[in-house]
Amino acid sequence: MVGRYESWGRYPRVRQSAVRLIWRHLSLPVSRDPHRSYLPFGNGRSYGDTCLNDGGILLDARGLDRFIAFDPEEGVLRCEAGVLLSQILDLVVPKGWFLPVLPGTKFVTLGGAIASDVHGKNHSREGTFGRHVRRFELLRSSGERRICSPGENPDWFRGTIGGLGLTGVILWAEIALRRIQSQNVISEAVPAPNLERLFEQLLDSSRNFEYVAAWIDCLARGENLGRGLLFRGNHAGAGSPALQRKSRRGFRVPLDFPVSPVNEVTVRLFNTLVYLAHEKLSSPTVTDYDVFLFELDRIEGSNRLYGPGGFLQYHCVVPLECGKPVVEGMLRLTFRQGMPSSLGVLKVFGALPSPGLLSFPRPGISFALDFPSPGPKVMRLLEEFDGIVSSAGGVVYPAKDARMAPAAFKAYYPQWEALEALRDPKFSSTFWRRVTKE
Ligand SMILES: Cc1cc2nc3c(=O)[nH]c(=O)nc-3n(C[C@H](O)[C@H](O)[C@H](O)COP(=O)(O)OP(=O)(O)OC[C@H]3O[C@@H](n4cnc5c(N)ncnc54)[C@H](O)[C@@H]3O)c2cc1C
Repeated sequence: MVGRYESWGRYPRVRQSAVRLIWRHLSLPVSRDPHRSYLPFGNGRSYGDTCLNDGGILLDARGLDRFIAFDPEEGVLRCEAGVLLSQILDLVVPKGWFLPVLPGTKFVTLGGAIASDVHGKNHSREGTFGRHVRRFELLRSSGERRICSPGENPDWFRGTIGGLGLTGVILWAEIALRRIQSQNVISEAVPAPNLERLFEQLLDSSRNFEYVAAWIDCLARGENLGRGLLFRGNHAGAGSPALQRKSRRGFRVPLDFPVSPVNEVTVRLFNTLVYLAHEKLSSPTVTDYDVFLFELDRIEGSNRLYGPGGFLQYHCVVPLECGKPVVEGMLRLTFRQGMPSSLGVLKVFGALPSPGLLSFPRPGISFALDFPSPGPKVMRLLEEFDGIVSSAGGVVYPAKDARMAPAAFKAYYPQWEALEALRDPKFSSTFWRRVTKE
């Protein structure tokens, strides 16, 4: 059972000493052993080690699964922190409400969404998830419970949003929803033959479309360097036809591949087919939000395709003006090192400030790349990425990280000491110990 707790990238593999399911206990099952540390666990959709606690105890929060109150007039929902965003959508969408911010998977818990202060494809319009959190209750290892909101325990509110589970367990949260008139999205895919055009499309589309993200073919070179597809969409208005909801899980990876089928040959073939299939601008299509927003959920267990070694995602944001040269520089570096990425995704982050002390999003261009089988060569490449990102004034996303060095982390997040001061003395994680090491 303990071994089944892993992160999405399945790297690093660590062994927790124990897992405790938390329900509606009045206090945490804290041991007297001063060397045992605790960490809440949501649904393990973080890529790296922010949800892992080697040698320590994980507090599985998925037992906190109750809806508490829903005001269908005001669109305010209160539920326990282990409820999945998918379950919230199932409840509120038929009533004309929607979650204002959704990451690329809906299989994330409410507590995990707050603790990583997640963002979606509409950051320019809605900012991060934490901006829509009104209040929550935090349980500390001492047994103390604190209601936190912008006006009540504001430091704990700020520290817990994006606080990576280190300030205590979020028991429940109250969130503000947004109205929708239809559960459809009018979407289109726009091809771009090179990075120049992809950036133009990305920035233009961010003005007129709520949801915008670009997929990059990270293997295209020469005049096609940075070619890709821009996916954009807006919620449909009232009167949009009800679409028949197909079964969402198209395919399930049934086993752990002994050798990963994700390699340069298969990725090149896949990318070329995807690009050619969309080479002509598609006309706007009416799509169910579920199909448009959660493409990555279509293959259940897609992380198993990377084989036993797992994979790493490098996810950074850099100021807008540096976006194109940084992305170009990183792509060229992957070619020089002979390690092209299997997947690249670009988004635009707008100016709405993130509420969390350690929140990742800030105005600029966000770029994420996947690398199978993390070994020393990949680690060296990502260290070089760190050099590019930090000189551009950017930062790396902790929720996707499993390797950044303490010096890099402390330079990206100089406010880390303020979170350290708010950290529950009995809480820690593999990530936190790694990045705060002297
Ligand atoms: C396919 C895919 C696409 C993704 N797309 C995006 C994206 O577009 N944008 C984005 O921002 N992220 C994205 N992510 C990352 C994901 O949204 C975050 O890592 C999220 O935090 C995972 O939530 P979880 O419930 O699985 O929590 P876990 O991964 O289990 O934990 C995440 C953190 O939350 C803490 N935590 C969990 N529950 C609680 C609680 N009750 N109280 C206090 N702390 C708690 C944990 O300690 C940990 O630090 C994606 C992940 C995947 C797999």
